[in-house]
Amino acid sequence: MKKIIASNFKTNHTRKSTKEFIVNVNSFLNKNNIDNEVIIFPTATALDEFVTVSNLSVGAQNAYYVKNGSFTGEIGTEQLDEFGIKTILIGHSERRHNIGESQKDITLKYNYYKSLGYKIVYCVGEPLEVKEQGISQTLEYVFNQFDGIDLEYDNVIIAYEPVWAIGTGLTPSIEDIETIHKKLKKKLQKPLLYGGSVKPTNLAEILAIPNVDGTLIGTSSWNEEDFKSMITTTNKA
Ligand code: PEP
Repeated sequence: MKKIIASNFKTNHTRKSTKEFIVNVNSFLNKNNIDNEVIIFPTATALDEFVTVSNLSVGAQNAYYVKNGSFTGEIGTEQLDEFGIKTILIGHSERRHNIGESQKDITLKYNYYKSLGYKIVYCVGEPLEVKEQGISQTLEYVFNQFDGIDLEYDNVIIAYEPVWAIGTGLTPSIEDIETIHKKLKKKLQKPLLYGGSVKPTNLAEILAIPNVDGTLIGTSSWNEEDFKSMITTTNKA
């Protein structure tokens, strides 16, 4: 299976710079005949009707589990449909831990977007205090994040992202990633990404770990040249 690469813009880039980024990445994929699956999650304000090659999709970092209604500050599928968006990120640790989304909220969101056939990138991962308790506690914590989540769903990609590695420059050891991915793959027969401080200098070794089907990248994907170089690395893996 070809490796996957996904970029999470978080709260970065403007509408204008997002458009430039996506147009340029799209022509890069086209020119170089790169057929890896590439996903970009821009901010909601930068969503648009992007014309892209079939292996590049643009997704929402978040949306509520409604078509429309009275949910101040949220967007629903009416707004996503306007731009033909059919991909969504669910369960990211910044939403779980900073914004306070519960497993119940996440499950409602997952089921709603699943019922509409969206491609879902579903994130799980443990905070530092859990990691420090050891591998069995880490696995127990991560497995609990699948409560209510249908892992038989055809259109789901899982991202294992240790919370303490996100945006910190810290990454787990190769052995730790290997152990956790192996255990996760036993539970789910789905594409499994690693995320957390992936960068041009560590991407190749992470992609070489068994059961790593690709990466979800925040910080180091916001620079277009770095992202393109990481696409090239992904293509060679
Ligand atoms: C992320 O936001 O999913 C992520 C992995 O961020 P970073 O690459 O900055 O750690």
